[in-house]
Amino acid sequence: MKNAMLVSTAALFVAALAPSTVSAQSQKAPPDRTWITLPEANPLATPHKTKNYLPEMTWTEVAEFLKRSDMVIIPVGSIEQHGPQGPLGTDFLNGTEEAKLVAQYADVLVAPILMVGNSPYHLGFPGTISLSTETIQKVYVEAIESMIGQGFKRFLILNAHGGNQATTKFIVDRINQETPGIAVDLGEAIRPFMKQAAGTGPKPFDRHGGVNETSSSLYLQPGLVNLDAARRAKLKLPPHLEAMVPAVKAGDPTATLVFLAEALKQKSTGKGTATDDMTDIGVWSELDPATATAEQGRADSEKFVNAAVRFIEKWQALRPINVD
Ligand SMILES: [Zn+2]
Repeated sequence: MKNAMLVSTAALFVAALAPSTVSAQSQKAPPDRTWITLPEANPLATPHKTKNYLPEMTWTEVAEFLKRSDMVIIPVGSIEQHGPQGPLGTDFLNGTEEAKLVAQYADVLVAPILMVGNSPYHLGFPGTISLSTETIQKVYVEAIESMIGQGFKRFLILNAHGGNQATTKFIVDRINQETPGIAVDLGEAIRPFMKQAAGTGPKPFDRHGGVNETSSSLYLQPGLVNLDAARRAKLKLPPHLEAMVPAVKAGDPTATLVFLAEALKQKSTGKGTATDDMTDIGVWSELDPATATAEQGRADSEKFVNAAVRFIEKWQALRPINVD
């Protein structure tokens, strides 16, 4: 703040001293601009409404929904770099899209609140936007309180970005402790309904913007992935973390816990584990994201949708609507 003030004061001083020089440098005549005629139909318009997707509904449709159900999925996403091939909105867009898919098979509303999440360790790559965990939980709790006032009761918080994990759990706890609403962490809720993956051998290191995530984007947002730009990253982990990678790949829970306690942390921590410290292009994977496929993404989304629908149906059976 102080620096910004100094700079602007200095700029004013220079302008007062030599107004002609400054204006000659900064004032270029704009090109002759012809009138822009827009096509009859907005070429960017959303072609149709998606069922149970709150931003596209009218208030009367939401009122009708409330007669049938009190459940809302709230995706918690992020705007952060996903390598040269993936859109910055990957986590927000994919989380919202999976929630919308669930809402086509279970009568549940989808209400995104924020696009941005907590991603300070990605800020070295332009376009990443990060909010503090304090701000994020405050915004979600206030938004959920406004829905509780209208008759919504059950909230399924769907975290779509690893960095939001603790915040998501805090939001869930605040709703349950402080309001008449009931919240669950959807990722935790679906675990008993997820099909166990076959085979238990070591898995490749493929954590951020890699084959898994790019595959999901290829299925959920195919028009937004630039697979031609995808390439294998040059990883440069701090040596003590590099040494843990084989145990992490083997699925050792303790190694994974201590590895992630240190990895992916913002620069100010001095850990040297922000993404631009550890990867040249933002992809944190040993695999080549160019090998991602929409089929792998479809299979992952299918597992998620089935597990989420099964959880929702069981919750509705355990606690039917309008039971106080
Ligand atoms: Zn992501």
